[in-house]
Amino acid sequence: MEVARYWRTTKQRYQLVGEKCPQCGRRIFPPRDVCPVCGHEARTAVQFSGKGEVYSYSVVHVAPEGYEKFVPYIVALVRLAEGPLVTAQLTDVDESEVWIGMPVEMVTRVLREDGERGMLIYGYKFRPALPVNNQAPQAAAQPMRTPLPKANGVHPEPVLQAAMP
Ligand SMILES: [Zn+2]
Repeated sequence: MEVARYWRTTKQRYQLVGEKCPQCGRRIFPPRDVCPVCGHEARTAVQFSGKGEVYSYSVVHVAPEGYEKFVPYIVALVRLAEGPLVTAQLTDVDESEVWIGMPVEMVTRVLREDGERGMLIYGYKFRPALPVNNQAPQAAAQPMRTPLPKANGVHPEPVLQAAMP
């Protein structure tokens, strides 16, 4: 029963649910029921896309209690596509591969371990987002093909030779 309740009450952590200000349209995350821009009450729940980009990041080597198993790990400030900044761990990426402006997307991962009961706490992290046009890398990986000179029956060499003095 306890576990079931845990799952139910923390389900909202798996999704980036924020709010939208009815006055100025600002997207708010995390939810705070008041627009930080115009001060209007904002209680309209809005599902965020989970897409964003790395705004800044740092590598954590000395972790707080419950996170020791994960060091070193990367904590980033992610600029969500909807505008707000959110702090979260990066995953599925090496420290040397992270760059400012890198497109990322939200995933659900083990966030930490509850020491007392060995319970795994899940939450969201961000991983590098796949390129929107996934045909681009394939095209780049293929070697450039040089057209055969005689393919259409015209040989280019005489033309080149005629141009030389
Ligand atoms: Zn507002």
